[in-house]
Amino acid sequence: AIKTTPLLRFSSVTSISRSISTLILVEHDGGAIKSQSISAVEAAKSVDKQTSISLLLAGSGPSLQQAAAHAASCHPSISQVLVADSDKFTHPLAETWARLVQLVQQKGEYSHIITASNSFGKNILPRAAALLDVSPITDVIAISSSNQFVRPIYAGNALCTVRYSGSNPCMLSVRSTSFAVSVDSKSNEAPISQVDLSTFDEGLLRFSCLYKFLLACLGFKVLLVTLFHVLVGYLYFVGKSRYINHTAQVTERPDLGNAQVVITGGRALKSAENFKMIEKLAEKLGAAVGATRAAVDAGFVPNDLQVGQTGKIVAPKLYMAFGVSGAIQHLAGIRDSKVIVAVNKDADAPIFQVADYGLVGDLFEVIPELLEKLPEK
Ligand code: FAD
Repeated sequence: AIKTTPLLRFSSVTSISRSISTLILVEHDGGAIKSQSISAVEAAKSVDKQTSISLLLAGSGPSLQQAAAHAASCHPSISQVLVADSDKFTHPLAETWARLVQLVQQKGEYSHIITASNSFGKNILPRAAALLDVSPITDVIAISSSNQFVRPIYAGNALCTVRYSGSNPCMLSVRSTSFAVSVDSKSNEAPISQVDLSTFDEGLLRFSCLYKFLLACLGFKVLLVTLFHVLVGYLYFVGKSRYINHTAQVTERPDLGNAQVVITGGRALKSAENFKMIEKLAEKLGAAVGATRAAVDAGFVPNDLQVGQTGKIVAPKLYMAFGVSGAIQHLAGIRDSKVIVAVNKDADAPIFQVADYGLVGDLFEVIPELLEKLPEK
């Protein structure tokens, strides 16, 4: 029997009575918010059905305003949309975003901060958590209560239940494949308000005052101070990362993270030229293209197509793997697929242990036959 001490009883009462409010860090592009951010709203609802949900968007110009309008109407559970409009946020750099989260948290005192477990969220969350002195919980796939979360460990071979007992806020990144959006009606427009950024640069001002004070004290050591200024100023003002450019493949295929059908090729394809067979098959089936890390490392396709532990997590209705061995790091990214089909010439390949349908055969014979027999889309 568990003996309940007065202290334990007290702490459980405070945690239940604590009001729950959630801030979602939202990624947007081309005037619309990403579907993974809408999944984060679903996750917030699992934290507490009554939670007030605020969305935070940052950027600049008309596309930000369009994205804010989209955010305000994309889900009925959204209470408000906060918009940080400044040239500083034109590109989502982790350093500036993390300071923005700190600023918004200081004013809003949210109990939970949630973002999608994609490259946007994975970039920002740890920095923001460090500034707020919080240990974040990443890759959450299920939420049992406002302070209890499930996340995969050992490349998805075990599930770990984590209870958060730290101070506010509780910071989470969530896998969008585990929080499917179930919105049947559009929301009434949630109110949109601008984040007051007047104190955003306070840190820089404080630094500049400190510098002037040092300069006055050490006036005779001008050279030394100048060198100090150049070094520290460089680190502080330029920051640790800077935006260079953004290249993205323009494709009409569905987004890998949300596709209903995914066709993946492995190292067995042997070359980028051969990999085009996978692309043709994907076109016929209206599918997204995926690749193993071995195929990416060999240069057959860009790394944004990588599926697995260090790539994208997918949960399609149909996952077809051609020439994929089924390493645990790859399986970590496909476990939530409804039906897995594998074609491999080795009957002992581990992929067959998770496949619903398996064909022992040579992909260089199977794919051309499939291409021939499948009707044009
Ligand atoms: P292989 O393992 O070489 O398998 C090729 C398969 O093709 C074999 O089973 C072979 O029988 C079959 N084959 C060969 N010729 C034919 C043919 N003509 N017809 C049909 N079948 C054929 N991997 C990922 O995919 N995603 C990740 O996110 C990822 N993260 C990783 C993280 C870490 C920390 C580490 C250490 C590894 C990671 N890996 C990841 C790499 C992973 O361990 C495997 O090396 C990789 O998945 C293997 O890719 P593959 O199946 O294409 O190649």
